[in-house]
Amino acid sequence: KGLFPSIGGMRRQGTTVLIEDVAFKVEQLADAILDLQALFHEHHYPEAIIFGHAKDGNLHFVLTPSFNDDASVEQYARFMDALVDLVVKKYDGALKAEHGTGRNMAPFVEAEWGRTAWEIMARLKKLVDPENLLNPGVVINPDPHCHLDHLKPWPIVEAEVDKCIECGFCEPKCPSRDLTLTPRQRIVVRREITRLMQSNGDAALLESLIRDYQYSGLETCAIDGYCALACPVHINTGLLVKRLRAERISPRGHAIASSVSRHFKAVETGLRLGVGLGHIGASIIGHRGVAAVTRLAEKVSGAALPKWSPVVPRPNFKPLPRGQRQEAEIVYFPSCIVRAMGSSPRKGEPTLIEVFTTLAERAGLKMWIPEDSPGNCCGMPFSSKGYVQAFRETLHRTVERFWEWSEEGRKPVVIDSSSCAYTLLTSQDYLSPEDRTRWERMTLLDPLEFTRQMLLPRLTLNRVAGPVVLHPNCSAVKLGLQDVMLAIARACAEEVVVPQNLKCCGYAGDRGLLFPELTASASAREA
Ligand code: SF4
Ligand code: SF4
Repeated sequence: KGLFPSIGGMRRQGTTVLIEDVAFKVEQLADAILDLQALFHEHHYPEAIIFGHAKDGNLHFVLTPSFNDDASVEQYARFMDALVDLVVKKYDGALKAEHGTGRNMAPFVEAEWGRTAWEIMARLKKLVDPENLLNPGVVINPDPHCHLDHLKPWPIVEAEVDKCIECGFCEPKCPSRDLTLTPRQRIVVRREITRLMQSNGDAALLESLIRDYQYSGLETCAIDGYCALACPVHINTGLLVKRLRAERISPRGHAIASSVSRHFKAVETGLRLGVGLGHIGASIIGHRGVAAVTRLAEKVSGAALPKWSPVVPRPNFKPLPRGQRQEAEIVYFPSCIVRAMGSSPRKGEPTLIEVFTTLAERAGLKMWIPEDSPGNCCGMPFSSKGYVQAFRETLHRTVERFWEWSEEGRKPVVIDSSSCAYTLLTSQDYLSPEDRTRWERMTLLDPLEFTRQMLLPRLTLNRVAGPVVLHPNCSAVKLGLQDVMLAIARACAEEVVVPQNLKCCGYAGDRGLLFPELTASASAREA
């Protein structure tokens, strides 16, 4: 992490962050640094830091000024004038060293180079760019106050938003970037909504931003947290969205979610029946017909409902395989989605649970599936929608069951879905002190670690000949297991291809069912 984002991440709320680039003669550098430090204090920027390239006499400094009111802008204007006097008049230095001039220094080009040189540069610019199309006003600008125009106020909004320096590093990997908003834009819109509210600004614009944010900002965020991996100040916009979703839930909504979590076994049964009915319907009226029915139901109910698609897996009605608990080396917890729908779209092929247990059997690994697994869940369906209370309750029940199944942490537990394993492995902040102690004493394995540690060393593999395309999912990436996934794939196939444009698929548990356009957009380049 560099100094610029470090300062950006710890600055006061409501301030912005900017970096400048000046140069002095090397023999005067030490004095110039002391003068610069004095200047920061004189103009009330005590947080400013200096770094740079001493052998070249080149200094960068980072400031975190506020532009939220006239007094702050005037303070900044005085600082810039004093800075130019210091660099140009006192030291005959340069206002730019290795970076471009930019609007912040454009008004001072003449002060550094003199009127004659400035006019020559202005004439040259006019000659090559008579329409002033190329970066207008960024180097040659006759306006002596252009560095003070259009300064963006950053109102205090909330911790995550206020930390953002709008650098945009988070944008390329965001699954919703081509559909609705990027993480940076989600933050910028939050800022704009707050600014309009505080300034009694354009009411129609405010209303439309608030209305559209529900879909563009909240509904179509996959909460995968890929943005946090790239953000230099570690903002997880997904967590912000999750919190905002939670704030929009009424106490009644939380109570209903808690009740659903307590009756999760019935939810699983309902899911199986619903999916089964969908497939029966599709065999009669076709997949398009079923999709039309789900869209109609959505219109009538006014709620976002799962959309039907031909790739929806078939329901899994098979009973859980039994194993010998006493002899078992490991406990296998099939996730709720695998228990309900973990079957192949092709008839006659084994379910995911059967694949898992067959592999363990071939590896000579004694595995046990608790018969009371149904009804238990990692809680992700609640946490991703902001039902924090239901999430905590679900986690509590699951940790309690895991503790008992694992014989108080003596046996490891493998979870067959990476995303569920990720939720459980990162759930510490939502656990009670007692559950946390138990959680710390248990070994929870995601399917990749399980395969690497317990299956591969015991199996003889025949590698498939054709190329295999690998999509390391978000949970694997966030757990730092993409190399493990790649190693497993290479052990199983002669050629493994990881797509260049890989990013989150946007399915996110149920987002892909509720908003299939998100997954379609997120996976378009990779597909
Ligand atoms: S959220 Fe995005 S734009 Fe904001 S600081 Fe992080 S990477 Fe930069
Ligand atoms: S959590 Fe994912 S979808 Fe949401 S803003 Fe971050 S990268 Fe984009």
